[in-house]
Amino acid sequence: MQKIKNYINGELIEPAAGHYIDNYNPATGKVYSLIPDSDEQDVEKAVQAALTAFPIWSVTPKEERSRIMLKISDLIEKNLEGLAIAESIDNGKPISLARTVDIPRAASNFHFYATAILHYASESHAMEDMAINYTLRTPVGIAGCISPWNLPLYLFTWKIAPAIASGCCVVAKPSEITPMTAYLLSELCIEAGLPKGVLNIVHGYGHKVGAAITAHPKIPLISFTGGTKTGAEIARTAAPMFKKLSLELGGKNPNIIFADCDFEKAIKTTLQSSFANQGQICLCGSRIFIEKPIYEKFKKEFIEKVKALKVGNPADADSRLGAVVSKSHMEKVLSYIDLAKQEGGTIVSGGFQVKLEGEFAEGYYIAPTIIEGLAYNCRTNQEEIFGPVVTLTPFETEEEVLHYADSTQYGLAAILWTENLTRAHRMASRLHAGIVWINCWLLRDLRTPFGGVKSSGVGREGGFEALHFFTEPKNVCIKLK
Ligand code: NAD
Repeated sequence: MQKIKNYINGELIEPAAGHYIDNYNPATGKVYSLIPDSDEQDVEKAVQAALTAFPIWSVTPKEERSRIMLKISDLIEKNLEGLAIAESIDNGKPISLARTVDIPRAASNFHFYATAILHYASESHAMEDMAINYTLRTPVGIAGCISPWNLPLYLFTWKIAPAIASGCCVVAKPSEITPMTAYLLSELCIEAGLPKGVLNIVHGYGHKVGAAITAHPKIPLISFTGGTKTGAEIARTAAPMFKKLSLELGGKNPNIIFADCDFEKAIKTTLQSSFANQGQICLCGSRIFIEKPIYEKFKKEFIEKVKALKVGNPADADSRLGAVVSKSHMEKVLSYIDLAKQEGGTIVSGGFQVKLEGEFAEGYYIAPTIIEGLAYNCRTNQEEIFGPVVTLTPFETEEEVLHYADSTQYGLAAILWTENLTRAHRMASRLHAGIVWINCWLLRDLRTPFGGVKSSGVGREGGFEALHFFTEPKNVCIKLK
């Protein structure tokens, strides 16, 4: 069986204690590879490698850093099909999604920051003829990057690329549930000639490897994407050490559909924003609010289209939903469907585990599920389910839907469907969210600030925001007279 290895100091090595964790294929429910069960010894090795590399990497000309990163980006593109297959097997997502979204975006992350760093400049503040201030921005040091399982390589590289472009060296931990493409990336980094120690990847559990990275005194900065509860735990450890923190956390995003929307576009995109990646995208719009005049029409057509979505083997080109990521996650999602029923909801589509045939009989499949008749403030409508489950709720006024939309502890993204320009701007400015998509969803320009408010996180990724995060500003003031 294939054994994944840690990538430390430029080499692929076994974990110090020699222990491994089973890695499951969610499509079949079978173990198909082994992941290092690393511990603080491995994190320590990785930190030492990063500390040794840092004095050189941090002063390596940005053109040279850029050149190596472009090579990594090219190699990801060259290996797109193999990486997409690996991502689909490891995560359960449809191969079509891995091929068109996950892996191309991982290549773009490297490409984007390889070129962004060349245009990154700093500020100067003149005090008339008295003095000039200028801001030096130097890499912070060793960055700890911890990522989740839902968009494995996409989100892993979204952290690593700006970190190494900035001149930081990295100790990174991908999710133990989806480690494979991070492992394949380490092979590509070796091939691209990334100097040893610049990027170190330590595989294993969050409570061991993630906690050791968070607590390590030589790691002054943590970039984390994952659940809100884990984010709080990381913040508790990191705050007394005054670490720089970027936390991209959970969401429970509203998808608000006004009667004056472009109906066809709204339905088509809502299928995506509800069920792409089996609803396991932090940006999915799991609470659908529909203005009363079109509620019944929307519901009827949406149900028809959702029932036609094929749940199947992720490797099949026509599967629109693959498997959810793990058995325990499937059980969690199904338990929320039960909760919705207890809370008085009516399941109008789906609501059950899908049993496939043959080798897929033990896979983790859930029918895309639509629930109606729930109060906006019940648990089903307040807690993050992170699966193929959406609720439908009618509304009458803007005030009412704003109240519903902002009623959760989260504030990551919001989706808005209306052809009324002034309403679109008015709502966008009033919604309490880090990102608002109007008449679209998941349309991403990598230059824009990305992140959430409230329990959805602290800080922003994307564009120069990330380069700011991985560098420390120092103001220098020169008196002129
Ligand atoms: P998770 O919090 O369980 O795990 C995320 C990562 O943190 C994993 O690598 C895990 O091993 C590690 N970890 C776990 N415990 C840790 C600890 N005590 N210390 C340090 N690291 C630890 O999240 P998940 O289940 O992998 O991902 C799903 C969650 O991620 C959802 O809540 C989703 O909304 C969120 N998410 C947010 C964004 C965003 O951009 N805001 C993007 C994707 C996913």
